[in-house]
Amino acid sequence: MAEGLKVLIGLEVHCQITSLKTKLFCGCPADYRGKPPNSHVCPVCLGLPGSLPVLNWKAVEYAVMASLALNCKVSRRTLFMRKNYFYPDLPKNFQISQYDRAGGSPIGADGHLEFMAEKKRKTVRIRRVHLEEDPGKLSYKGAIDTSPYTLVDYNRAGIALLEIVTEPDLESPREARAFLQKLRSTLEHLGIFDGGLEGAMRCDANISLEGGGRVEIKNISSFKDVEKALSFEVLRQRELFRKGATVRSETRHWDDTRRITISLRVKEEEQDYRYFPEPDLTPIEISEETIERLRGEMPELPDARKERLIRQYGLPEYDAEVLTSDRAMANFFEDCAKVCGKPKAVANWLMGDVLQVLYSLNQDLSESKLTPAYLAELIGLMDKGEISIKIAKKVLWETMKTGKPPSSIVEEKGWRRLADEAKLRSIVEKVFTGNPKAVEDALQDPKAAHFLIGKVMEETRGMADPEITYRLVREKLEKLKGESR
Ligand code: ADP
Ligand code: MG
Ligand code: ZN
Repeated sequence: MAEGLKVLIGLEVHCQITSLKTKLFCGCPADYRGKPPNSHVCPVCLGLPGSLPVLNWKAVEYAVMASLALNCKVSRRTLFMRKNYFYPDLPKNFQISQYDRAGGSPIGADGHLEFMAEKKRKTVRIRRVHLEEDPGKLSYKGAIDTSPYTLVDYNRAGIALLEIVTEPDLESPREARAFLQKLRSTLEHLGIFDGGLEGAMRCDANISLEGGGRVEIKNISSFKDVEKALSFEVLRQRELFRKGATVRSETRHWDDTRRITISLRVKEEEQDYRYFPEPDLTPIEISEETIERLRGEMPELPDARKERLIRQYGLPEYDAEVLTSDRAMANFFEDCAKVCGKPKAVANWLMGDVLQVLYSLNQDLSESKLTPAYLAELIGLMDKGEISIKIAKKVLWETMKTGKPPSSIVEEKGWRRLADEAKLRSIVEKVFTGNPKAVEDALQDPKAAHFLIGKVMEETRGMADPEITYRLVREKLEKLKGESR
């Protein structure tokens, strides 16, 4: 019974606007990664008495662009609000955010995003897109619930964040992951976001089973973990249903080493935050002209790019969708297809073997040693018949592991296909002399010739051209037959 229950998933995604140079309300540099703790701070982002925030207008423009890309209505006038709560990562004891009630409205609302999951087209409604500041970063010793102390670094405090909230339209953990992928690609195409940066996109995942309470899993930082945490919750909640227990509404934490979610607290209510308008900032006015100007400046987004890939390279729709759901991959594809002139082959390699090797090496395409030129070279070697598909796969692996060009690997390992007829003929002779019994069999039964072909392959460590080998063995057998007649 619990198996059939419908799964509802809604996501609250926090994306840092990574292309900004400074924080949202102060001039501190935004490139805090890898810097000594608490070195990118000032009185504003530390919340010291007497300091006042000044809005980074570029952040508003980027938030408008993100809203437009997600098909949202853009507010002409919006406010910042104080979201009050105490937590050590929040130096002011409130977060400057936006709120959709009490006279406030987010920058973008009522949008939608289309994506593909398991070969089905799907639309998710976007409830809102708003701007807020990132809190600082807490570090624990080991797991959150057993750590003897907590460290805090305010370098991240005040970094501009986009909060993007979906309606509960996602129906499986798989879909949630595919949506996040498309969202990342969209923001990356806009040029405001780099999802390759650690912690740049974090997600709170809400999940309920039909009729049960809603569980919010806080702060998951990879797409893979979002899928895993949600899958764990589906199982846990189904189990509760099966036992006839109720699923409590609560906030849980995903423990990625133990691969379970643990309960943190019963869910907080909105009124607990005592939202009120931020008195230190004036309301944001966004004129119609600004919105239209930004709309005009928007670069090509994944869906438009997908249509172009279909037109320009003759790709099937599915391939174009997969490629454009990852900006780095779409760029790689276009660079490579231009060099090698075989777009479909490039798409196949990228979506198949390349992804598999990346997965095994636990790498992103952007950090991979494979370049578009290398992949083009590999495809060229196959086209010219110098290596077989089997060898090409081995070469790809070596190139991705070592960064050496495919042609050098082929030379180094002696993997070039043996297509020299004279050489092959002498190997065939040798195999025939060495295996008289097999020759006898092959003369009786043509199918037994495969044994001899196999022997030639063995002699050449698999490098012999299969077609030529096959022909030479047949010819030799015909000749022997003629002689014995
Ligand atoms: P809160 O402000 O308490 O976090 P919201 O109503 O703003 O609650 O919703 C937050 C997120 O929870 C949204 O992404 C929404 O889609 C999702 N959500 C709402 N109801 C459900 C539900 N029954 N099951 C799963 N997700 C839900
Ligand atoms: Mg919420
Ligand atoms: Zn600062």
